[in-house]
Amino acid sequence: MAVPKRKTSKSRTASRKAQNMKKPITRASSCAQCGAPQQPHHACPSCGYYAGRQVLTVVSEE
Ligand SMILES: [Zn+2]
Repeated sequence: MAVPKRKTSKSRTASRKAQNMKKPITRASSCAQCGAPQQPHHACPSCGYYAGRQVLTVVSEE
């Protein structure tokens, strides 16, 4: 059976596992209605529009 010649260091293990870390959500899209940052394929959180029509009733936080 093949056996590793060297112990895998903590540093090497950590840098390998860093590839699997969750990446932050990049809000690349902006709303066509109000221009606010918005996730693609989601209704706009600030105006409630999706695909050119209102789909959510947004309650203003005041
Ligand atoms: Zn919007």
